[in-house]
Amino acid sequence: MKIAMISEHASPLAVPGAVDAGGQNVHVGALAREIAGLGHEVTVYTRKDREDAPDTVEIGPGLSVVHVPAGPAAPISKDEILPWIPDFGAWLRDRWVFDRPDVVHSHFWMSGVAALEAAEQVRVPVVHTYHALGSVKRRHQGSADASPRDRIKAEASIGRRADAIIATCHDEVDELIRMRVPRRSTRVVPCGVDTAAFNHHVTPRERPSRPRLLSVGRLVRRKGVETSIEALRRLPDVELVVAGGPAASELHRDAEVTRLRWIAAQAGVGDRVRFIGRIGRSELPSLMRSAAALVSVPWYEPFGMVALEGMACGVPVVASAVGGQKETVVNGVTGLLVPPRHPRALAKALRTLLDDPVRRTAYGIAGADRAKVRYGWGRIASETLAVYDEVLSARRRGSEGAVVIGAGPAPVRGRRQR
Ligand code: UDP
Repeated sequence: MKIAMISEHASPLAVPGAVDAGGQNVHVGALAREIAGLGHEVTVYTRKDREDAPDTVEIGPGLSVVHVPAGPAAPISKDEILPWIPDFGAWLRDRWVFDRPDVVHSHFWMSGVAALEAAEQVRVPVVHTYHALGSVKRRHQGSADASPRDRIKAEASIGRRADAIIATCHDEVDELIRMRVPRRSTRVVPCGVDTAAFNHHVTPRERPSRPRLLSVGRLVRRKGVETSIEALRRLPDVELVVAGGPAASELHRDAEVTRLRWIAAQAGVGDRVRFIGRIGRSELPSLMRSAAALVSVPWYEPFGMVALEGMACGVPVVASAVGGQKETVVNGVTGLLVPPRHPRALAKALRTLLDDPVRRTAYGIAGADRAKVRYGWGRIASETLAVYDEVLSARRRGSEGAVVIGAGPAPVRGRRQR
């Protein structure tokens, strides 16, 4: 199969950890690599955000990243990309007229807009993954949400126009139903984890002198780092290491780090919170292995790859019971789930774990098993390919316009339905 993946702001070549580079970058890169490894041809199209970025980067056999000229060849916030999406879509259409993919898989809503504009003209089916939904963001962030005004409307429209939607958890499906996206076009395929890199055989980066709690993620408010800092008040014997944000040398310039340091000082725990900046993929597993527990307590979370990576490393995970984390983290088996924005509940859960090494080990083993069995990229790639196959056969059956999967021939009367 010849597959075009569109990821307008999240390049698989970017270093995750910064404000606009996180799970989507990792997901697109890993999925594309896995699918190409199975013998398919995958091209990832992302916006050219550097003057010196080559037009095409060959990553390996059957896998390349194409930098699409749309807007300034400079980094811009994802909330400012929309005006250049029509150019992005037109560029894709012009390319696909002579280099037609079999399937397009768009990631994040603006990629969906560009992909549908182009794919409808060259009659290629589109599978879409939202990664995050504007309606959820608006609900939690209110006036702080800087997304373009039409995002929510555009996302609903993508849900009706795409051939299939891949949601990464069942919470997302519920939200899509509320947006009137047809249930029959929705499939659930979670994000995966690279279990060759993230596993419990990795040597810990160090053996800290006191129990370590670890938080990993983009440093944006909704990730709830402040909840972990406030929980430390009730956990006098532990340290909190916070990975993510800018590179270590730039931390002093970062507004969110300054705000969190102030909160830590106010809570009297400033000497036990350490910001270490963004951490490269290759260093993360050993950092995770040095922690007594991984803490992931965002206000809301479309999927939450970090919790899964912690599990894969055999580290117990304490996570807020939101989005994908409700499915990956099994409460009382691989970790503990707590309500979001609740420092007291978080401290209590952590205390239970810190006081019980046997339970920590048991959760770690169960987490690593679960990550390996359910969430390896091999399985995620084959489930994704099955969706591509479905839309291709639905198109073959339907031939005209966008045909949603599940909309095959009408059931024959009188035959028993299962
Ligand atoms: N990440 C990383 N280095 C960092 C911080 C984050 O490699 O310093 C990675 C992290 O390991 C995970 C991704 O960025 O793979 C974040 O994905 P997640 O789904 O947890 O959150 P998102 O960024 O999508 O909101």
